Amino acid sequence: MSEGLVIGIDIGATKTRLGVGDVSGRIHIKHVYRTTDVAHNIIDFIVDDIKKNFSNFLDKVVGVGIASIGPLDLKRGMILSPPNAPLKNVKIVAELRERLGKEVFLVNDAVAAVWAEKVYGMGRDFRNLVYITLSTGIGAGVIVDDHLLLGKDGNAHEVGHIVVDYTGMMGCGCGGRGHWEAYCSGMNIPAFVEKLLEKKYGGQLEGSLLRQEYRRNYLTAETLFRYAKQGDALAIKIVEEEIGRLNAAGIASVVNCYDPEVVLLGGAIALNNEELVLGPIAKYIDMYVTNRRPKVTITDLGEDACLKGALAIVAKPPPSLREYFRYP
Ligand SMILES: [Zn+2]
Repeated sequence: MSEGLVIGIDIGATKTRLGVGDVSGRIHIKHVYRTTDVAHNIIDFIVDDIKKNFSNFLDKVVGVGIASIGPLDLKRGMILSPPNAPLKNVKIVAELRERLGKEVFLVNDAVAAVWAEKVYGMGRDFRNLVYITLSTGIGAGVIVDDHLLLGKDGNAHEVGHIVVDYTGMMGCGCGGRGHWEAYCSGMNIPAFVEKLLEKKYGGQLEGSLLRQEYRRNYLTAETLFRYAKQGDALAIKIVEEEIGRLNAAGIASVVNCYDPEVVLLGGAIALNNEELVLGPIAKYIDMYVTNRRPKVTITDLGEDACLKGALAIVAKPPPSLREYFRYP
């Protein structure tokens, strides 16, 4: 497809973005909603929003791309039941295809982002790349030898559930224990920090900005990183020596599995805290990595990486999506 418009939909754990863009990856219009406000009737919401806001363009639209939080069932075009969002068994591909009369493509959100990097971004120059989102949850998209990995159901990239702590101190939203996401995702950082303050750093709370939050029980990932930026010694220690080190271990495991030339980090935690995220990874990754160390850096596509990925899977459908899942 060389011309025409594409509707892109990015369904994340926290935000849902709907946009119209073109096949070159330029986003013309974008609307952002809170996923919890729209998830209960996501199909009606998407159809109404498109008909209300994009009806003037609809005849020029060549397809609809969806980048969604997983797990997915790509053969049936479904979003199953993500641990981090109130969605359950949504047959999104068939329903949108029928109601909009357009071809509809679905992949995991981080998979869409790595495809966007390959088609429009820094990934153009690489045959082997990984995109990792450090956000409400942790996920990845992987390209090996120019081939986009999908797996039997489209879930070949649940790296957030890599085990980084065999003692299983923290429980994960998926039901497992010791998973990377249970320690380092935006949703789970507060519980992890509380546990650390309880078990390990309680004696260092005096004089720390974290003390108030801990007492009142409203610590968030955002405040932890903000206090670290403000120079709070305990916040820095937790961000660098605990979360940062676990990120280094998680990323090293991904590097050991897929041997990428470059690892691109996106998601709100990485985008808002570049130095505090990249610094500890650079410091500790050599402890854990066995393959030749790749470049690890922040995505050049910013917060629209997944939405651009939704455009990219329509503009240039990945061969693996066509061959195994019979997308057009
Ligand atoms: Zn898990």
